[in-house]
Amino acid sequence: MTSEWQKPRSDMRPDTLLGHAGRSPERFDGAVNVPVIRASTVLFPDVDAHENGDKFDGVRYGRHGTTTRFALEEALAQVEGAARVSAVSSGLAAIAVSLLAFTRTSDHILVADNVYGPTRSFCMSRLQRNGVEVEYYDPGMGAEIARLIRANTRLVFCESPGSLTFEMQDIPAISAAAHARGVPVLADNTWATPYFFRPFEKGIDVSIHSATKYIVGHADVIMGTIGATEEHWRTIRQTAADYGYTASPDDCYLALRGLRTLAPRLRQQMQNALQVARWLQQRPEVARVLYPALESDPGYALWKRDMSGAASLFGVELRPASVTAVKAALNSLRYFGHGASWGGFESLVTFPKPERVRTATEWRSGPLLRLHVGLEDPADLISDLASAFEVLKASP
Ligand SMILES: *Cc1c(COP(=O)(O)O)cnc(C)c1O
Repeated sequence: MTSEWQKPRSDMRPDTLLGHAGRSPERFDGAVNVPVIRASTVLFPDVDAHENGDKFDGVRYGRHGTTTRFALEEALAQVEGAARVSAVSSGLAAIAVSLLAFTRTSDHILVADNVYGPTRSFCMSRLQRNGVEVEYYDPGMGAEIARLIRANTRLVFCESPGSLTFEMQDIPAISAAAHARGVPVLADNTWATPYFFRPFEKGIDVSIHSATKYIVGHADVIMGTIGATEEHWRTIRQTAADYGYTASPDDCYLALRGLRTLAPRLRQQMQNALQVARWLQQRPEVARVLYPALESDPGYALWKRDMSGAASLFGVELRPASVTAVKAALNSLRYFGHGASWGGFESLVTFPKPERVRTATEWRSGPLLRLHVGLEDPADLISDLASAFEVLKASP
């Protein structure tokens, strides 16, 4: 059964779809945007109408979503090619729900060694406490992942490129190996966005996004989304419902507004990021730039084959320098803010330490930075970085 929001899939190209999917002006006095509909209680004409019906299909109680949330979910499903999308309160909640939906005591799961830190913390604290064995694998593995799959392996979790270190994964090869053993593949696709990557065409069964990043795009909402195939969406949505996870109508409105401008923001931010990244590559202070969209990156071939664009988030390994000098340089930046998250309109910098958490692979590098390039003029960002390198050189 399809909800009233699930209109027939159209032949619209992605940019057109981003502008039109999930809208229904005829229902809202012609208003272009679906309004914020706040409701806990939803009234029905009689007892039977209240008691009968599918809580996941149509508006029945605020926790399962009002029209604002259904509209966002339908728009995202159309853009990404999911059978159904579920919006929840954060990207981390989307990851937790997805992992919980597939696992119970005595199960085994495979998780890429370079996943987002809090994903790993969730596995260590909650899943292992539940008796789930979590094995981390080398993200460079493709079809060879087959030899890690056991009779009790319930899922393979990917993140490509991985947080902080940006290694690309061979998703089609991993999916083929997992599917051959009946194992579903989950992926955190926050970096690639629903616009630059079509996960379901590459073999992913469950596609997770921190919508907090580019989908919302303005650094003002925390939200996560889970897209799934026809086979899996109901399990996921039921798990989210079991834990009481939801997403507020106000936040869904902002996410939907962000989604409308996703394509031009991403294209511009990618262009800005490439300009900054190429400039950094020429600098004597830089050992390498970790960005799959650069021809010199080891993940370039996979990126080019599987994705149609790149996020404006990448790593920069500096040549050996003291922590004091790196911090002094970062503290001198005018346009790169110090703070968590990314995907907004503004540039950010962090100083991560990936070598501390890995277990399946070793990570060795000089000082590592993570840059998020925003919509500022890249010439200003470059001169900001150039001044910071002067501070770096002058510091002990
Ligand atoms: C930020 C982030 C998350 C978590 O998202 P929140 O909305 O902050 O909970 C998950 N995965 C990746 C790759 C992220 O960057």
